[in-house]
Amino acid sequence: MIIRITSQALSQIYPPSLYISYGSCGKKYCWCVKEGKKHGPYYAISLREGRKRRLYHLPKEILPEIKEGTLLYKRLKKELFQIALSNLRDKIKKTGGKNA
Ligand SMILES: [Zn+2]
Repeated sequence: MIIRITSQALSQIYPPSLYISYGSCGKKYCWCVKEGKKHGPYYAISLREGRKRRLYHLPKEILPEIKEGTLLYKRLKKELFQIALSNLRDKIKKTGGKNA
């Protein structure tokens, strides 16, 4: 699939690394403790920012849009690589180099 890198596409991208977690709430009498089950799923995006890793929790209502945007990010990244590769090959060919 080819996606045009437009400003509209760029405004709809979100970082990859969707993170799904389950957990117990820690309340003594909650069903999660009684039944040994966990709350969730909770969705977040886990990102390395400099040296730190940060978790961005995602409200349910924005989840579909974010999911879509993370897929779009991956597709655009692939496409960007293809463009860069094509530029490189053209550049080398124009200067009479090999491997083009
Ligand atoms: Zn609980």
